[in-house]
Amino acid sequence: MGFKTDIEIAREANKKPIQEIGAKLGIPTEHLLPYGHDKAKVSADFIKSLDGKDDGKLILVTAINPTPAGEGKTTTTVGLGDGLNRIGKKAAICIREASLGPNFGMKGGAAGGGYAQVVPMEDMNLHFTGDFHAITSAHNLLAAMIDNHIYWGNELEIDERRVTWRRVLDMNDRALRDTVTSLGGVANGFPRQTGFDITVASEVMAILCLAKDLKDLETRLGDMIVAYRRDRSPVYCRDLKADGAMTVLLKDAMQPNLVQTLENNPAFVHGGPFANIAHGCNSVAATTTALKLADYVVTEAGFGADLGAEKFLNIKCRKAGLSPSAVVVVATVRAMKMNGGVARADLNEENVEAVQAGCPNLGRHIENVKSFGVPVVVAINHFVSDTDAEVEAVREYVASMGAEAILCQHWAKGSEGTVELATRVAEIADADVANFAPLYPDKMRLFDKIDTIAKRIYRADEVLADKKIRDQLRDWEEAGYGNLPICMAKTQYSFSTDPNLRGAPVGHSVPIREVRLSAGAGFVVVICGQIMTMPGLPRRPASETIRLSDDGLTEGLF
Ligand code: ADP
Ligand code: MG
Repeated sequence: MGFKTDIEIAREANKKPIQEIGAKLGIPTEHLLPYGHDKAKVSADFIKSLDGKDDGKLILVTAINPTPAGEGKTTTTVGLGDGLNRIGKKAAICIREASLGPNFGMKGGAAGGGYAQVVPMEDMNLHFTGDFHAITSAHNLLAAMIDNHIYWGNELEIDERRVTWRRVLDMNDRALRDTVTSLGGVANGFPRQTGFDITVASEVMAILCLAKDLKDLETRLGDMIVAYRRDRSPVYCRDLKADGAMTVLLKDAMQPNLVQTLENNPAFVHGGPFANIAHGCNSVAATTTALKLADYVVTEAGFGADLGAEKFLNIKCRKAGLSPSAVVVVATVRAMKMNGGVARADLNEENVEAVQAGCPNLGRHIENVKSFGVPVVVAINHFVSDTDAEVEAVREYVASMGAEAILCQHWAKGSEGTVELATRVAEIADADVANFAPLYPDKMRLFDKIDTIAKRIYRADEVLADKKIRDQLRDWEEAGYGNLPICMAKTQYSFSTDPNLRGAPVGHSVPIREVRLSAGAGFVVVICGQIMTMPGLPRRPASETIRLSDDGLTEGLF
């Protein structure tokens, strides 16, 4: 049986002009700023005019810990959005924009898959509406202004050895991880060591995704710490007077992008912060706008629920005053089998025992999400290799956890495959049974917040942090940052900090390697293990086989 590839399906899409998609949400044409025929930004003025309108219901799609078998969060987000529209609900989806760089390393897009995709997927995975370029420019303007300030006499007394603001680029380029700048003599400034991160790792990206409006954006940009003086006092972006010009560069990027699903339903695609050193979900601006315009908004958080959902709930929802009505946890039979010890090569063979053995990973995510006071539904994202007995095993397990699992076939059938899930999710959302509360209060000590996440979400026995780290946290509390939430950066493959520990491990420790303050974004990043902020390309990068066909189509990207 032959299946069409994601890109083949996307190319056959019957796209409607973006004005028609906007009309479904009641956005007047003059407030859609078109980028071609199938993409548009929603104007800031229109967004402002929505103040005071009632909000729709927010539904989060998250997943078990990722395995190489694949889970399909984006695919399920799109499928559920289409399913809700199919059963007559006014629904929109909100997902992240893709980073350009990684597409040239490994094949694979960020627009869903099969018959549950967002289009135009090629644009979405490349330059799109230029948001990431704007973020790159704003970030690097600040970098240039720092070196320029030092060059012209360094009035702020910046310690050149303690400039924390690096440069960014939307490219996987390991050669730039550590660099020396200002070589070449007196006219070029003072040589110093620095480096590059990928654009999505920029604090500017995290800020764009958390800011409520342009005023809030400018304030947060000003709040960023860019360097320290010899006496260790911080130098802020505001001290360099860069916040105004950066806001100018980001003015258009702050407006959410509207595109469509294969079934011509509205999809907001906006912002794309890293899911490790940042919070990993689409922009607050897009989500709050969608909630004003649709009755149901389906959104996705990166990685598994231990990282993605935890940060969505503890950072994004807390900061933006959002309150989800339901959470969908995506699971696959294949991933359950991998959690149950099956090798990737053997995933196509039926193995009910392995499915059962792997289910505790799913079970813990269900418990965790419920502990935020939000009802949970499990979506079994169906793969053609799944057998009925295996699907039944997942269903039974989930029932034993006091939740329900619904088989979904959106990848193969589009919205027809999510009617049951959509119906159930709408019922739950309409019942208003959610009673959301973040896991920890703002005023809890920073270390206790980390301890709470480690024990309640990861089920670890202890957090290991040496004196230097504890002292740092205490210093930040004294400087007035004690009320910030925590942004955990750890492996996505396990509840623990060991990527090989699948299933539902207990008795582990969470060692903290480093803590960083993102004073503008408004969180404390806690790094457990090695976190890469500038990826490299693999030995055989996808870019070697990407080309334009004779009829102008992009080949090899997906
Ligand atoms: P995530 O958002 O969890 O990273 P995606 O939804 O982007 O995952 O899906 C990752 C890949 O898996 C996509 O290429 C998609 O086409 C594929 N995929 C998702 N669901 C299925 C399925 N049910 N059967 C086959 N392939 C699938
Ligand atoms: Mg995704």
